Amino acid sequence: MTALRILLVEDSSDDATLIIRQFERDAYSIDWVRVEEEPDLRSALSAQPWDVIIADHALPHLDSLGALAIAHEIAPGIPVVIVSGVIGEETAVAAMRAGASDYVMKSNLRRLVAVVEREVREAAERRQRLRAEAALAELGRVIDESEDELYVFELQTLRIVHVSRAATAHLGLTADALATRTILDVFNGMTLDELTTRVRPLHLREVEQVVFEHEHRRADGSTYPVETRVHVSHVREPPVFVAVAREIGERKRHERERELLSDVSATLAASIDWDETLSTLAHFITRSFASWCVITIRSGEGAERFTTVGVGPDRVAHEPTLREAFAAASCPAIDRACRRAPAELVTRVTPAWLDASFAHSGQRAIATTLGVESAIVVPLRARDRVLGAMLLVCSTPERRFDARSASLAEDLGQRAAMFVDNARLYREAQTAIRARDEFVAMAAHDLRTPLSALSLAVQSLGRMIRRHAPREQIEALVAVVERSTARVTRLADDLLDVTRLGVGRLSLDLQLVDLTEIVRDVANESATLPGAPRIVLEVDAGEEVVGRWDRKRVEQLLTNLLSNAIKYGAGKPVEIFVTSDSETATVRVRDHGIGISPESQQKIFRRFERATTERAGLGLGLYIAHEIARLLSGRIEVESAIGEGSTFTVTLPRGGPRPSRIPPERAAVVH
Ligand code: ADP
Repeated sequence: MTALRILLVEDSSDDATLIIRQFERDAYSIDWVRVEEEPDLRSALSAQPWDVIIADHALPHLDSLGALAIAHEIAPGIPVVIVSGVIGEETAVAAMRAGASDYVMKSNLRRLVAVVEREVREAAERRQRLRAEAALAELGRVIDESEDELYVFELQTLRIVHVSRAATAHLGLTADALATRTILDVFNGMTLDELTTRVRPLHLREVEQVVFEHEHRRADGSTYPVETRVHVSHVREPPVFVAVAREIGERKRHERERELLSDVSATLAASIDWDETLSTLAHFITRSFASWCVITIRSGEGAERFTTVGVGPDRVAHEPTLREAFAAASCPAIDRACRRAPAELVTRVTPAWLDASFAHSGQRAIATTLGVESAIVVPLRARDRVLGAMLLVCSTPERRFDARSASLAEDLGQRAAMFVDNARLYREAQTAIRARDEFVAMAAHDLRTPLSALSLAVQSLGRMIRRHAPREQIEALVAVVERSTARVTRLADDLLDVTRLGVGRLSLDLQLVDLTEIVRDVANESATLPGAPRIVLEVDAGEEVVGRWDRKRVEQLLTNLLSNAIKYGAGKPVEIFVTSDSETATVRVRDHGIGISPESQQKIFRRFERATTERAGLGLGLYIAHEIARLLSGRIEVESAIGEGSTFTVTLPRGGPRPSRIPPERAAVVH
């Protein structure tokens, strides 16, 4: 039994009974109320929900139009069916216009049930539709809140019929403008064939949705990467495609960064040839991260500077100019990074920054040509030493460097620095191995000469003793033996000293000693050397220059300087000057020999370094002299010009070594 709630607006209870009976006859269970006047109608409408209102057309106090108005006011949506004994066509039309659902003549009440059934059903459908529309509007609001773009487009024509707020916002187009386009206008570069292939599984009902990555094209022609999910929706007739696209710029960026780091790591791990590897690094950086870049490696002590550059694929023609400009002069931005610990991130480059960063006009010019919108300058730091710096530049205003780019750049910088450090250590190790081999060869050679002399002298001595040769001849040979032994001993001592200096264990025996006396002894000793020139000694400020020094070590230092002056002095006189004040003593050894070039002057105090191959030598004398001066808190300097001779100046504090700041294990042992 179907239940029906009927509100009757009827003055005749007989008629009401008649009407209800029509329904009960059709097996309806009726819940009904009859009202005649406006207040009753109002309270009945408010009291409970009704499925239908059946109103008599003409009541004494309320006509059907009045009843309609009240029903629409209090309970809109409830169908109102008018019944009437007589009704003119005009009245009927007016009633229908006013919103009546239908009218039925009392003489034909049998029709009423069918009319009411239809109206109740349609009202229910209307309500359902309204609810669905409200739900849809709600859903639309939710979709509009999302950052995902939603496109509804037709299956056949691909015409866009609906878009979400994110779609219009991201594309920079209004919904109306999009309504005149097809989805292929949004999918950058996708052909109809491609799209057809992609959505074919949907047509074949093989899958519920298809997912693909591609690009969307904005109104201004620029593009951005998206991941799109497409399905067929049957909520509309005919069905439509619904595409939900999510911007994946960030994800793509992540992927690109990971790729860059792994490419860079692989490149850096594959080689120890830094020039080539750093160029490859610059190339990788400009392929995916920066528009152009400059990498500068400063060498430790010398003036050597290595610069490589990278330029994005679209502007490689500028690479030589860029390299030239940055190899020609140092760049203040890079110099700054070498002094500062953290990376410098400039999200928006200003003219002031350009002024402070590219002092050289060529650098400024090429930077302007290539474009500088944002920049990162990263120091290359390894084992607490700054080895150089990288300048990375982004020349597109829409894609500026941010804090994340800076941290990626720092990561790259760290890897590059570690690589450079390793490559440098490897190079140094190679050089050291070569130097050691050369040294061993030379040491062997240097030992051989006095040893051969010694061996010859000893053999002759034996013969002479057996022959009872004259005493003078024997004494002359003994002198040769003594000199050769002294030379071998000195060589052995030098080697030992170098080893001790290397591990910081050269000992000092400090006493109050007179420098003038030492200089005089050394000069006299040297004067006896074969082929020694005239040695002129000038002592300033009286006789004694007393200081707290190690006599043997000072003697060794001066002997090394003087023997060099004789060895490289071209046989010309050698002068020695001693001067002093209350604090320091100075010894100057001057020769007029072959001289030393400015480049060699930088190196000759280092171990095994030689500026000439003219005379035999191990390249140790000046190193030892320099180290002895340093241990005594003094210094040695050289002034020289090729062909004009050299002057070595030793300055020693008279108070002896100052308390050292060198860690104990590296310091010399002082007795
Ligand atoms: P060695 O003399 O055994 O080669 P040193 O350490 O004493 O080693 O000197 C290093 C180098 O410095 C020498 O090989 C030589 O080239 C250069 N040198 C040193 N003293 C002089 C000098 N007085 N005149 C010219 N060259 C010198």
